[in-house]
Amino acid sequence: MIFQSEYDVIVVGGGHAGAEATAAAANLGAKTLLVTMNLQSIGQMSCNPAMGGIAKGQIVREIDALGGYSGIITDKTMIQFKMLNLSKGPAMWSPRAQSDRMRFAEEWRLSLERTENVDFFQDMVKSLIVEGGKVCGVRTAMGMEIRSKAVVLTNGTFLNGLIHIGEKQFGGGRMGEGAAFGITEQLVDLGFQAGRMKTGTPPRVDGRSLDFSKMMEQAGDENPSKFSYSNTPKLTKQRSCWITYTNQDVHDMLREGFDRSPMFNGTIKSTGPRYCPSIEDKINRFADKDRHQIFAEPEGWDTVEYYINGFSTSLPDDVQAKALRTIPGFEKAKIFRPGYAIEYDYFPPTQLKHTLETKLIDNLYCAGQINGTTGYEEAASQGLMAGINAALKIQEKDPFILNRNEAYIGVLIDDLITKGTEEPYRMFTSRAEYRILLRQDNADERLTRKGYDIGLASEERLRRMDEKFKNAEKLVNYFEEHSVKPAEINEMIEERDGSPLAQPNKMINVITRPELKLADFTKLNRVANFIEENNINEEELEQTEIQIKYKGYIKKEQQNADKLTRLENLKIPTNIDYSIMGSMSIEARQKLDKIRPATVAQASRISGVSPADISVLLIHMGR
Ligand SMILES: Cc1cc2nc3c(=O)[nH]c(=O)nc-3n(C[C@H](O)[C@H](O)[C@H](O)COP(=O)(O)OP(=O)(O)OC[C@H]3O[C@@H](n4cnc5c(N)ncnc54)[C@H](O)[C@@H]3O)c2cc1C
Repeated sequence: MIFQSEYDVIVVGGGHAGAEATAAAANLGAKTLLVTMNLQSIGQMSCNPAMGGIAKGQIVREIDALGGYSGIITDKTMIQFKMLNLSKGPAMWSPRAQSDRMRFAEEWRLSLERTENVDFFQDMVKSLIVEGGKVCGVRTAMGMEIRSKAVVLTNGTFLNGLIHIGEKQFGGGRMGEGAAFGITEQLVDLGFQAGRMKTGTPPRVDGRSLDFSKMMEQAGDENPSKFSYSNTPKLTKQRSCWITYTNQDVHDMLREGFDRSPMFNGTIKSTGPRYCPSIEDKINRFADKDRHQIFAEPEGWDTVEYYINGFSTSLPDDVQAKALRTIPGFEKAKIFRPGYAIEYDYFPPTQLKHTLETKLIDNLYCAGQINGTTGYEEAASQGLMAGINAALKIQEKDPFILNRNEAYIGVLIDDLITKGTEEPYRMFTSRAEYRILLRQDNADERLTRKGYDIGLASEERLRRMDEKFKNAEKLVNYFEEHSVKPAEINEMIEERDGSPLAQPNKMINVITRPELKLADFTKLNRVANFIEENNINEEELEQTEIQIKYKGYIKKEQQNADKLTRLENLKIPTNIDYSIMGSMSIEARQKLDKIRPATVAQASRISGVSPADISVLLIHMGR
């Protein structure tokens, strides 16, 4: 017998969700087994070799602040870094990194191997062992029965996965890897609802066959930042991406393949990610646009393989090749792998609690693409939360839930379990009501103490976070106490068309002027000396500037967020009977009964539940 004892937590699947779930549960002291179909593909990036981006970068920072691994692994393996949206306010600044695909997966595997309490097993889980409404382990394709106190399902795009390239169709979880069977059928038998979604990916090509002189270079940031708040190395060299455009000839060639396209001839019926459309979808929906941007992105430091961002397609391979070779710079492109679409099963996430435990089966958790999301960051953050909560539950500790005003992760999970999703869900800044609070620069302030309190974030992380905010505060105080003289700053102000100072003024008031930056003040000798004496680093300077320049917005948003916290604290009794609330609309009663929100705030976010319905609920609860 291979398995001699029971595990605390079994994680099914070693993608982004599964890897974070494994790390979190194990680091919280749970004896954890990761069962995955292929140990070689732990932490595999199925699509784009990139982490972060708008709103997603904030999520990676949050994972890191809590003590997860995704940020550290990205820092160790990135080949290019860009802070997106720098021309907008800091709520929109979003870190994005291009990673070395092979090293990213290798680093995940090695990081998990170095984590205490983690065991590995390569096999396909075919079913769950369920006894008395509670999950007690898994059964695998090789006939193993492995018992555990909790199970986290993170099957990604593998459940009954079906790959499409033109008229060709074959089973698979992603190209080159088999699909997984059994779990959907069993869960449906147990009363779960299941659905079908689809996603797609572009071709990969040989960089040696591309003519970069016909493309525009897109280099990384001059002073690249990073994802982790811990002591990971900064990038010292970077690889560039390249930009080119499709044209009408390319579109005509693609159109020629439409009648053989599984997207258009009815073969694919499920819904794909609205914001990552395929190239055929783009030219079909935006027929008036005469070109679309294409990025050639290197897949790593040494490999010659390039990812063709913007050209996701499931058209027949001959059509893909012909159209691709009509794009400037791609005339001689050699294709390593064609683009494809994949359909897979998911479970509508309204069947989950805030902890990502299923409502139907105790101690069974679901995280990642299986919950109807798309994206590595969305998956990883759910994995982290499911791993944490599985470990906490079996240790009989309080659940760990993040509110919407505390983290994008809180927004993500609340959206999923309250509203559900009918198309692959990805995060946007617009989904967060309090995005001025949920910035990438302050995820540590928001979350590291929480991560530390549950035992996940290290003492060293907490110390770094405390020091950062103490130093920022010191500098804010300095600017509050010291004045700047007109002679010191007026030349700079006039150069930028501002109105000069007539008399000395407290620095804190002058920094807030739109034409000035904190860097203008750090040039003054006495400020530079103060910064040096107090060892204030770049990150702390950035923090100081944000706190000073956006103080008014942050304060207002915090007041609104505090109001939400009050509603969030109004817990709804779990045994509440909505059917007797006659003055509530029937729709609201039905939806509340189905979703069974945990708090009044969550109830108010369910579509179809009006403020009047909430009043009825409050009256019923005696408020
Ligand atoms: C073709 C394609 C295109 C994509 N395009 C995009 C895109 O454009 N934008 C975007 O944001 N995201 C895209 N994604 C999605 C992105 O890859 C996923 O969101 C992310 O990888 C999900 O992470 P996950 O951990 O949930 O699952 P996955 O990364 O899919 O990992 C699932 C893991 O579970 C294992 N597994 C599955 N079933 C079993 C079983 N029964 N037993 C044991 N192990 C099992 C698998 O081997 C795998 O290791 C795409 C994915 C694919 C496949």
